[in-house]
Amino acid sequence: MRCPFCRHGDSRVVDSRVTEDGTAIRRRRQCQDCDRRFTTLESASLTVVKRSGATEPFSREKVVAGVRKACQGRPVSEDDLALLAQRVEEQVRQTGAAEIEAHEIGLSILPPLRDLDEVAYLRFASVYQAFDSLEDFESAITLLRVEREQQTT
Ligand SMILES: [Zn+2]
Repeated sequence: MRCPFCRHGDSRVVDSRVTEDGTAIRRRRQCQDCDRRFTTLESASLTVVKRSGATEPFSREKVVAGVRKACQGRPVSEDDLALLAQRVEEQVRQTGAAEIEAHEIGLSILPPLRDLDEVAYLRFASVYQAFDSLEDFESAITLLRVEREQQTT
């Protein structure tokens, strides 16, 4: 990234954050020659690779749609879902990869969903991680309990 002041070719990234709508990364850079700082906005396309090998652009709506089912009957608002999708997108974009596998998105959904609603989390995890026995539920619930106790002590 060329410095807009002195045209020097090298700059150092001093801060980077995802824009509010999650579609771009704003970076503060410092020129290594004149030390002046400037901002760049980098938007990157993010492609999701499905298990079948087909690709599609990342979509927050799809994240919300996937999670909404697990949240049926739970005290979770549309705002909560939108915020969750934003967190997922930020998480995924922070890896810097242009392509991401669909199952990695599922993995990125689990932690914020657990913060949001534990029942919805268990439902989502049971489908996503293909729970096929009571023991799978038991171990997931045990894990939640253990972590909850760790948080309160
Ligand atoms: Zn410069």
